[in-house]
Amino acid sequence: MTKIDEYIPIVGESVIDDLKLIAEKLKGKLIQHINSTSVGGGVAEILNRMVPLLRELGVDTRWDLIKGGEQFFEVTKKFHNALHGRQAEINKTDFDIFLETANRNIAELDTSADIVFVHDPQPITLVNKRKENKWLWRCHIDISEPNQKVWSFLREFVIKYDAAVFSAPGFSQKLPIRQFLISPSIDPLSDKNKELPQETIEAVLRKYEIPKDKPIVTQISRFDRLKDPLGVIEAYLQVKKYNDCRLVLAGGGAADDPEGVKVYEEVKERAMVDKDIHILLLKQNDLEINALQRASSVIVQKSLREGFGLTVTEALWKAKPVVATNTGGIPLQIKHKYSGLLCHSVDGAAFAIKQFLNSPEYAKRLGENGREHVRNNFLLTRHLKDYILLFLSLYHNEDAIYL
Ligand code: UDP
Repeated sequence: MTKIDEYIPIVGESVIDDLKLIAEKLKGKLIQHINSTSVGGGVAEILNRMVPLLRELGVDTRWDLIKGGEQFFEVTKKFHNALHGRQAEINKTDFDIFLETANRNIAELDTSADIVFVHDPQPITLVNKRKENKWLWRCHIDISEPNQKVWSFLREFVIKYDAAVFSAPGFSQKLPIRQFLISPSIDPLSDKNKELPQETIEAVLRKYEIPKDKPIVTQISRFDRLKDPLGVIEAYLQVKKYNDCRLVLAGGGAADDPEGVKVYEEVKERAMVDKDIHILLLKQNDLEINALQRASSVIVQKSLREGFGLTVTEALWKAKPVVATNTGGIPLQIKHKYSGLLCHSVDGAAFAIKQFLNSPEYAKRLGENGREHVRNNFLLTRHLKDYILLFLSLYHNEDAIYL
């Protein structure tokens, strides 16, 4: 397990000293994170790294999962899509299924920690069980234009929390409780982001039978329509008329995403038009994702809607030129033509990919700018500091601290 001092060479000693100092102030408080999955997707990714470091800093932390069956996760997936503004047929049965599972979890889960930190909508109803302790709701998704039926249902629970935390300014909603803006982060020392020897990168390419003969354009994402994998293929096919290259679409399914298999099959089918398209169904394997990102000449994230977009952060940290949609948290990470290229369409993505493939010097410069932007803003150490300050602020009066 990585130790906090190992971050000193990356972020500097003063950043780590500050963390130790403020963590002291939380002595005696128990913090409990609650979400719905321990693997797959951005939330689990962050908690897996953050929880052990909080503990090392002396912050007493536990992490619990709610339990739900297939039907429950089908409903929460519909909610997720609807909150992102996508069409979704949601009826009374869906709300009933949601509440039934919620009630079971309310009955079973011990939520007596000093601060209960609930992530995303799946466990949101647990707040009905609140006692004198503090409750935080962490929203990782973009709810700027939510389906009103779902949002008004969830809002009734949100307003029972002490505060809500959003990843980007545009995601927040009018609420009668305090709101905080905290961007997520990546861990530069995790298997997904650490430096890799060239042999490891090549071994992964060999494993997936991806020859190194042409530049590789890659999108790493769960097979999810909101990640627009078919759009990426269309963009690639346009690029391919002018630039010989390969496309890698790699991802697995999160345990709470039942739609994934269907999307994967559609993508596989469409990919048959070109033998240089590689569709990889990954088991949870961070080293392989790391290697694929590092082996790429250009990274794409052509999401139709996005939460923060951690895959973009990961790519920028590897100093890769990134082409990504101007949605969700992506514009916080990519300043157009400075730390990557933003696009709005298949044509725009194709144009930007060509630009990078045709000007390696330009691509390199934007990639390096991206890496520095991530170092300053989106590494785990900054995130830890924001969370600790957030926890402390719950014990001060309303006006005391705003992050
Ligand atoms: N990821 C993964 N395996 C996959 C696809 C994605 O581990 O098959 C990781 C990816 O590297 C990133 C996270 O899951 O760390 C995805 O976070 P993001 O914010 O990009 O999207 P989300 O999946 O949360 O919508």
